[in-house]
Amino acid sequence: MRAVVMHAPRDVRVEDRPEPRIQKPTDAIIRLAATCICGSDLWPYRGADEVSEPLPMGHEYAGVVEEIGADVHDIEVGDFVVGSFFASDNTCEICRAGYQTSCLHREVLGTGGGAQAERMRVPLADGTLVATPAMPDADLIPSLLAASDVLGTGWFGAVAAEAGPGKTVAVVGDGAVGLSAVLAAKQLGAEKIVLFSRHADRQALGREFGATDVIEERGDEGIAKLKELTGGLGAHSVVEAVGTHESMHQAIGSTRPGGHVGFVGVLHDVAITGEDIFMTHVHLHGGPAPVRRFLPELIDLIWTRRIDPGKVFDLELPLDEAAEGYRAMDERRATKVLLRP
Ligand SMILES: [Zn+2]
Repeated sequence: MRAVVMHAPRDVRVEDRPEPRIQKPTDAIIRLAATCICGSDLWPYRGADEVSEPLPMGHEYAGVVEEIGADVHDIEVGDFVVGSFFASDNTCEICRAGYQTSCLHREVLGTGGGAQAERMRVPLADGTLVATPAMPDADLIPSLLAASDVLGTGWFGAVAAEAGPGKTVAVVGDGAVGLSAVLAAKQLGAEKIVLFSRHADRQALGREFGATDVIEERGDEGIAKLKELTGGLGAHSVVEAVGTHESMHQAIGSTRPGGHVGFVGVLHDVAITGEDIFMTHVHLHGGPAPVRRFLPELIDLIWTRRIDPGKVFDLELPLDEAAEGYRAMDERRATKVLLRP
């Protein structure tokens, strides 16, 4: 089968690889209807993460179950399914508390997960996968794919930041996750939603998703602008969706005393000292989003066409042109690239 493999920074190839097989009785094999390139795939692409051996890429997926192991009972061959980037049993105490990405039996699909391919193996299929009510219409597939990571991650960011009715929510980061966090904040009933963004096309989609205000400044200037909009207080809830030292500190600085930061950008070289936060009275909560917690609700919102998160995909390519997809995201010609196997 065809699959995307990263050999070195900026060296992405589509190659023939062995078909995935059931390895454990709890596995399923799915045929991808669509997959995509993640912002986090750009870290190794740009050389910020080491590529020590050829990496089968991709961890966002939606598709049809082709084969199940002997111990899979809730998922059937022929189901259309969406899953998260960490496999989880969904039965342990941590899963039941809603933190499936810290499942005691989790298997990380992350970079190297192999979802940018025609087929993939999903471990712990009963716990990891959620089936749609029926075969989806083709136009729903991008949104269902978005639920697999960016929507679920943005949603967790908004929930971790305690977005809700009457709240002002600010979002640091205008990539697919940040834009999804705007959509989530709107669905959760936020009163004012401020998107930090300096790209016109992303600002436009942010407003379509529910942003009431856009701030183009960054860092201390951005924080000052946000405080102007909030009576000098800062936001109740801030979603950090980038993962750099600067963006994390912008998020903390944008939060009012007693407020919450939900941080979901994969952190790289972020330093936070006790002095940085002691006087702020800001709550920090984040990490790899437990997307599985939200999947049933997100699939329902998509199925009933109340949200359209698939709009974050602004470039669609055949799987064989994945290298161009990586270039387009690296050069910011595309926010999020959907690949069709
Ligand atoms: Zn678990």
